Amino acid sequence: MLTIKDKSFVPFIDQNTLKNRIVQLAKQINEDYRDKEPMLVVVLNGAFIFAAELMTHLTIPCRVTFIRVSSYQQTASTGVVKHILGLSESLAGQDLILIEDIIDTGLTIQQVSQQLMEQQPASLEIATMLFKPESLQIDVAIKYVGFEIQNQFVVGYGLDYDGFGRNTQEIFMLA
Ligand code: 5GP
Repeated sequence: MLTIKDKSFVPFIDQNTLKNRIVQLAKQINEDYRDKEPMLVVVLNGAFIFAAELMTHLTIPCRVTFIRVSSYQQTASTGVVKHILGLSESLAGQDLILIEDIIDTGLTIQQVSQQLMEQQPASLEIATMLFKPESLQIDVAIKYVGFEIQNQFVVGYGLDYDGFGRNTQEIFMLA
């Protein structure tokens, strides 16, 4: 049991299950990119631990860069607009693997993907530790999924509740 700001979280995905699945994802990426040198584009903050663990199991030549996404309401009709912050290098012609912690509605990953595609990479695939298929609102192909979960709030292993709870080896869900 984990308590953050009076909220109780119960164990959901244990350390071994999580790490074994990340090793499997890395093997799949090693195979898929065996003649390539992908660039991992990690969406901060939540994906930092997943990305670090995944990367240590990659045996192909690869690089990593980190981005943040800022969200703000523009107008009522355009809705929430998300912008990429922190990208200094050109991604043109590169094989990108966009690394997310969790995909919920999919709106974040959709907007980030569209903005990265403007740089004309050679390819772009998405890897996410967790995916909530029932919440998905957009049509997006997610190539690498750690775990599909139901529509519930989770913390741990990089994921936060109000900034806290990222520093655990397992994933918890709201009780
Ligand atoms: P989307 O744009 O797909 O709806 O939202 C993605 C972002 O929402 C994630 O990167 C994460 O920051 C946040 N998020 C969505 N579901 C959860 C959850 O269950 N727990 C936590 N901690 N963050 C979540």
